[in-house]
Amino acid sequence: MGKAATSQVRVTGLEARLIATAIKMKRSQGVGSVQGKVKRVLLRLTTDVGVEGIGEAAPWEVFSGTAEAALAALDLYLRPIVVGADPRRIQAVMAACDRALYENFEAKAAVEMALFDICGKLAGVPVSDLLGGAVRDRIPLSFSIANPDLDADVAMAKRLYGEGVRIFKVKTGFSDHANDMRRLAKLRQELSGDIDLRVDYNQGLQSWDALPKLREIEQFKPTFIEQPVPRPQLDVLAALTQALDTPVMADEAVFSPAEALRLVEKRAADIVSVKLMKAGGILNARKINAICEAAGVPCYGGTLWEGGVALAAGTHFIAATANMSLGCEFYMPKYVLEEDVLTAIVPIEDGHVVVPRGPGLGVTLDEDAVKRLTVEKRS
Ligand SMILES: [Mg+2]
Repeated sequence: MGKAATSQVRVTGLEARLIATAIKMKRSQGVGSVQGKVKRVLLRLTTDVGVEGIGEAAPWEVFSGTAEAALAALDLYLRPIVVGADPRRIQAVMAACDRALYENFEAKAAVEMALFDICGKLAGVPVSDLLGGAVRDRIPLSFSIANPDLDADVAMAKRLYGEGVRIFKVKTGFSDHANDMRRLAKLRQELSGDIDLRVDYNQGLQSWDALPKLREIEQFKPTFIEQPVPRPQLDVLAALTQALDTPVMADEAVFSPAEALRLVEKRAADIVSVKLMKAGGILNARKINAICEAAGVPCYGGTLWEGGVALAAGTHFIAATANMSLGCEFYMPKYVLEEDVLTAIVPIEDGHVVVPRGPGLGVTLDEDAVKRLTVEKRS
């Protein structure tokens, strides 16, 4: 028996760092555009048995929150709960975090994944084993076509096709409908016939004329159309889902298990995008998935602006959750970030994310990169 079996394991320290990473190309998607740098928060928990856990909060300001708010949430509001706690009591710690602080899902997701990382390391098993064991060893990767320079994205998609990527999600709704039609026509014309093409509006359409626009989009045979209208318009989303032949996926419309329940009751979408950053961690994400699974609604692994730490957690979650069956968009560390904070990113092989088998999250911080990318440190 190692120290893990003793009753004396405590979190002794919490370090949160605001980090900024340059991205390789401009990204335009629905309600927001990003260029230059993305900001995230890297979390490190230390324990009295010498095991460290890492986590990451990666919001998007037009979607949910800010990295600065996540930094303050971790430093000022969650620190008093986490430091001194037994890291193996993940559900109890997260319940205390929910009592102490409203929402702030990204900060809570970071705490939870750091606790899972510690537990996996203490037990000597990957996080997917703690979740009941992997049902898949690799996850199909979707790359998002989000560069306003379409020629650049066509070239990128062709290169990724050569590397085995077959799923491409086109970001629409950030300019006008005619441009979306031009872009989809060009992608269908330029890319191989066997690609799985998907469309994501990121809430970019208005309720009154969404249906005629989406009916035109259907000619390009997308696998699904994601979140065409704003988050609060659940009835409009339901009407579109009933009217269209193409499956509709909810993203912004579902953050919480309660929202998932409302969605399946109304049959407001055919598919749900589950994100650790929306749900506030793996345990809530699994509740959302379970509600969807019970209603016959498959789920997809979406992202905000996560780097490799958060995506490692997402990879374990999807690996161990059968109904998360429509792939993931965990492409940021390999294809978009100029630099990440890990000694090695989670591998992407033949268009699939390979589930790490090392203990915990199975990823290691590159301490030089962490220092170099740090904007502000709170410890
Ligand atoms: Mg989306």
